[in-house]
Amino acid sequence: MPKINLLPKGTAELIAAGEVVERPASVVKELIENSIDAGAKHVTLEIKRGGILYIRVTDDGCGISFEDVPTAFLRHATSKIRSAKDLDSISSLGFRGEALAATSIVSKVELFTKQAEDLFGTHYLIDGGEQKLYEESGCPDGTTVIVRDIFYNTPARMKFLKKDVTEGNSVFAVLERMAISHPEISFKFIRDEKTVLTTPGDGKLYSAIYSVLGREISSTFIPVPDGEGAVRVSGFVCKPAFCRKSRAVQYVFLNGRYVQSNTVVAAVEQAYKNSAMIGKYPAFVICLDILPETVDVNVHPAKTQVRFADEKRIFDAVYYSVKNSIISGDTRPEIVLNRKPAPFGRMTAEQYRQQAVDIPTTPVEKAYGVDKPGFAAKREPRLSFKSDNTPFFERKDVKEYLQNRQESAPFDPPVEEKKAEPVVAKQAEDNAPDAANDNAEQISVRYIGEAFLTYIIVETDDSLYLIDKHAAHERINYNKLKTTASVESQQLLLPVSVRLAREEFDAVLSNEKLLTDAGFEIEDFGNSTVMVRAVPAMLSGEDVTDMIVEAAKNILKKGVPESERLDRIYYTVACKAAIKGGNYTTAAELEALAKKVLSNNDIMYCPHGRPVAFKLTRNELEKQFGRKV
Ligand code: ADP
Ligand code: MG
Repeated sequence: MPKINLLPKGTAELIAAGEVVERPASVVKELIENSIDAGAKHVTLEIKRGGILYIRVTDDGCGISFEDVPTAFLRHATSKIRSAKDLDSISSLGFRGEALAATSIVSKVELFTKQAEDLFGTHYLIDGGEQKLYEESGCPDGTTVIVRDIFYNTPARMKFLKKDVTEGNSVFAVLERMAISHPEISFKFIRDEKTVLTTPGDGKLYSAIYSVLGREISSTFIPVPDGEGAVRVSGFVCKPAFCRKSRAVQYVFLNGRYVQSNTVVAAVEQAYKNSAMIGKYPAFVICLDILPETVDVNVHPAKTQVRFADEKRIFDAVYYSVKNSIISGDTRPEIVLNRKPAPFGRMTAEQYRQQAVDIPTTPVEKAYGVDKPGFAAKREPRLSFKSDNTPFFERKDVKEYLQNRQESAPFDPPVEEKKAEPVVAKQAEDNAPDAANDNAEQISVRYIGEAFLTYIIVETDDSLYLIDKHAAHERINYNKLKTTASVESQQLLLPVSVRLAREEFDAVLSNEKLLTDAGFEIEDFGNSTVMVRAVPAMLSGEDVTDMIVEAAKNILKKGVPESERLDRIYYTVACKAAIKGGNYTTAAELEALAKKVLSNNDIMYCPHGRPVAFKLTRNELEKQFGRKV
């Protein structure tokens, strides 16, 4: 058996230090936490080469007295804990008294510090745990810690460091979290001699978020009003239309500290269900303030993952706060036109003519007479309409519709004979939930028309709205399915037998209860065939086979938790029962639909998260036409 040796003191210290200080970002975190604890109002962080070469943190906090400086670098030296019972408190940031000691062991540290009440400050140097200089010195109030050549004496650790950029990005992430969780402190971050971030330190969370995340993201945020009680939730969440492809912009702060919590993330994401597109994630900053004595919190000192004794309570608090914010704070997405200066009055007649010749016109624009020079500056509208390759006015359905429209008075509901067309208009009114109907009549909405057989155009006091008729109707149907206790079903005159693929058949039978809840009546007919006797009432007349196959596919879809299956079936039903883009709908129906949409804030997105309506304000138009600047 090999002999057991006691490690030499230096080696043991290096190992211990390496556990506290893993990389530049962990040093930065510790140093900034110290500055915060010292009551700083301004904190500057400077790094070079990702912090591997150089880290400087300067604050205007309370400083350290001359006598205390060497002690601060001893292990287990802290001014923040006096007795074991203080350990319970997580509200004080650093509390292990190890950071300065560990850092000074694995790097070269230089310190300048001065307390406001002292005449002189202190200049201190310590390399690899060995004091090199300790003298009085003139310096400003507060503390500057400079850390050079991290891991210069621990090559094994050095090896684990990533590229400068990567380390630098981790440092950046640390600073961002600090800045957001301390809006009352003004932070400045200098990276390789460039100032890359400053925050105002005005005490407002939104200002800090704005500085850190930038205008684009923060302008999509709506506030989560400060809650009350033992679990208080506040912060900002993005409007559902601005959810992102990744979870990169998700911040959770617990009693002022950045933490990771799967529970909080799940609760926020749950609140976006049916508002955000599938596969997109909300951006948010959620601040949780809990009374430490009412909720047991377990924060690992090094890792940030946090666990709550009562996860459900936290989940509910976050879910309801965020849900309320989304419902009350969300507004319909607005169309903002390009702000290129309008060419009117600035061009010579010659330039005007030239431009008019140069720009090709699409058939749609031609038909609408928008191929005038004035429109040239705005060739690419933000909204692009999806279409197949057939030019719009060449499409069979469009031709028929237009012909039909010409026969009747403009904007009158087209005549009824055309009902024999492949598409039968659905009674949008009948399908709408009654709750949504309440104020539908009162709202002042003037119906203007329909574009591309898909988008309803209406006018209110100060805005135009473009409403996707299918998405709108789909959402109304979905809400109705969700809110009625038992979905009304309609017996088919003749039951329909539907032959399914083996796995679809199994899926349908093993989820029969769900299908019954959704208004279907289905029977096992053996041999991969089911007999459908009834369908949800809003569907009658639809192609039953398609419907069942699609429902089966939706149940089978990978990654859909069992709890969401019924919802998926509702999606299918709502979609199938909705009027379709490209199909003919009467003006009366469209008008009723528009009123319903605009009078109900819960009809903001279709069940898949696509927006139902866009708003174009009068103000925006006036700016665009140069009536207003
Ligand atoms: P801890 O923060 O856990 O107390 P540290 O090793 O980080 O341990 O710091 C040791 C002590 O040094 C602190 O308790 C504090 O008294 C003092 N100190 C460190 N940094 C600063 C600073 N920026 N301003 C004032 N005092 C500081
Ligand atoms: Mg500390």
